Amino acid sequence: MKQVCINCNKVFYPTKNNYVGYPQSYSGYFNNDENRWISIDTNIESKVFHSRHCQDQFLTKHGDYLSRIFRDLKQNEREATND
Ligand SMILES: [Zn+2]
Repeated sequence: MKQVCINCNKVFYPTKNNYVGYPQSYSGYFNNDENRWISIDTNIESKVFHSRHCQDQFLTKHGDYLSRIFRDLKQNEREATND
């Protein structure tokens, strides 16, 4: 899938079977039959940064705004698990 980094506008191509793009999912398992790592929870469309550096730069740049969203998300998680 063709993606454009929202931090630097570089074009990159994340797929289900590569490690291109961030945020990166590190959970998964090794499939011996296919001789490769199978990632779990990899949502290609959510990979909006071409590099870890761009992800960090963007999160830092918008930290004040994003931290409020992150706290809201965490609060929603807490409430969902308390039901
Ligand atoms: Zn970038």
